Order: sequence, then C-alpha cells, then structure tokens
Amino acid sequence: MAGAFGFKGCQKIRGPQIRSLLDAKDFFLFDCDGVIWNGEKAICGAAKVVSALIRRGKNVVFVTNNCTRPRDNYLHKFYRLGFTDVTLEQIFSSSYCSALYLRDVVKVRGQVFVVGCDGLRRELQQAGVAFVEEADDPEATIYDCVLAPGVKAVLVGHDNKLTFLKLAKASCYLKDPECLFLTTDNDPWHPLSGGRILPGSGSLTAALEVASGRKATVIGKPSRFMFECISTQFSGVDPAQCLMVGDRLETDMLFGSNCGLDTMLTLTGVSQIEEAQEYRNSELTANHSLVPDYVVDTIADFLPAFEELNEQSN
Ligand SMILES: [Mg+2]
Repeated sequence: MAGAFGFKGCQKIRGPQIRSLLDAKDFFLFDCDGVIWNGEKAICGAAKVVSALIRRGKNVVFVTNNCTRPRDNYLHKFYRLGFTDVTLEQIFSSSYCSALYLRDVVKVRGQVFVVGCDGLRRELQQAGVAFVEEADDPEATIYDCVLAPGVKAVLVGHDNKLTFLKLAKASCYLKDPECLFLTTDNDPWHPLSGGRILPGSGSLTAALEVASGRKATVIGKPSRFMFECISTQFSGVDPAQCLMVGDRLETDMLFGSNCGLDTMLTLTGVSQIEEAQEYRNSELTANHSLVPDYVVDTIADFLPAFEELNEQSN
C-alpha cells in the first residue's frame, strides 16, 4: 500500500514528513492501549499531541477494542492521565459499538446473554438493550441451572470472571440458529507488565466457535463497523482525510486498510517494525493489508511538527 505521499509501506517518517501529513489530514483516529497510554501510564507527550490536534481544529476520535469499561469510565481515565480536553463523543469502544449494533442495526428483540465484564453490561443498559442478569448459585451446573427464555443474542467480550457454566450456557443458547453470535473483538491476548499476558476476547470467542460450530460477527477492529459508527456520528467522514494510528498490525492497521484510511504504526505497544516488514515482504497479498503506510517511534514525534507550525504562524 502507498500513503498519500507515495511511500511504500512501513516508512519511518520524521519532521517535515510528519508536518505534511498533519497538514493533509483532518481526522485522526487513535487506538488507546499502546498508543496514548500503556495501562495506567500515559505515553510521554501524548496528551500534548491530542491537545495540539484539537486546538488546530482537527477531529480526534479514540477507537479501542478494550470492552471492559463503559465510556464514562473511560472519560475518567482520560482525565486522570492528563487528556483533559477529550469528551465522551470522541470515544468509540467495542462495548459501546456492540450496544449500537444490537440496538440500531439488528434491532434485537429479546434478551442478550453476555459473556463479559460489567462495563459491557453497562453499555447495553445505557443503550436500552435488555440482557440476562446473571445470578447463578455458586453450586449450579449446566445440568440443573436455569436457562433464560427469549435469548436472541450471545455477546462475548473480555471476561475476568469467566466460568465453565457461562461457556456452557452460551453454547446452549447458540444451538438456536435464530440466536445471534457477536463478539466485541477478536484480540487474542493483551500484554501485561513483567512479560505476562492476558487472554483476550478472541480466545473466549474461539472456545464458543468450536462448541457451536458457528462464526461470531466481530464488532471491533479490524471490522469496519466502528468506522461506520464514527461516520454516522460525524455525518460522513471522508476516509481520504483520515489517519488511523495504532500499535497492533492485526487489528489497527487492518482496520485502517479495511476502511480505506491511511495508517500509522507507533512502536510504543504490541507490534514491532520487523513484523510489519515481514508482512510487507510476504507473498500473500492479504498480508499487505496489515502493513502500515507510516511508522513513528511514538506519537510524541508529532510534537516538533507542531512547534514548527507554531513558529510559521507567529
Ligand atoms: Mg493497542
């Protein structure tokens, strides 16, 4: 793939090239984990970058596959980490978009069975989507537990209280071909500090796909639906004016490609430039969709470009 400035994929860009890109684009989509923060620590300079873009009249939105928090909770995190000019309307999480999908696209009639955290249920509740309240006896098993009537969708997300019973129940609901099967995202794992990892929603979804013999509809990146939500809210965003900035090739870069956006990989998160180069050199053309147009070490590399622009306007 080639970005707006004719680079072949994976080009590390600096100073004047970043400045041209900032001039050319008016809509910036940022992933969160690994891009603007890592866990509870903001990436150095990221808050300044976001503020500078907003001050320059650019549209900035955040697209995250992290489905564990409702958006209002995210907003607190933005504030806590110094991103004080971010508003709720700029946050698009896979849990929020799942609620929009169930309410507005498939217009689900009946209850949703959730394999996920409370944050996901909160988003459904705020969107007015009915879900099954979990109140199983700790001793209950799939042989004697109650199955809720009228379950019309199973929604899977990250679930740190996953039990075998939940998986078993979800498998039972999915036997009904009329029952929809959705996942907030297909992320396989997430990095933790100290080299540990956390299994992601994708690993839980895979278990249910095997049990049900069905494929889940993916709401989060790399599926296009989150961009459709953004496009609806901002009434028709021109993909040519957008830059998708992320740290994971298989979700963020592929999402950008799927939506026709220029893409930028930042090296503060999961993926390394060598992996991007491998995809670029791959003979499988499908792999080329995972190659970023541009690469920066960190989004703080934007800052010198803003300083130059400020000097020019003084
Ligand atoms: Mg990320």
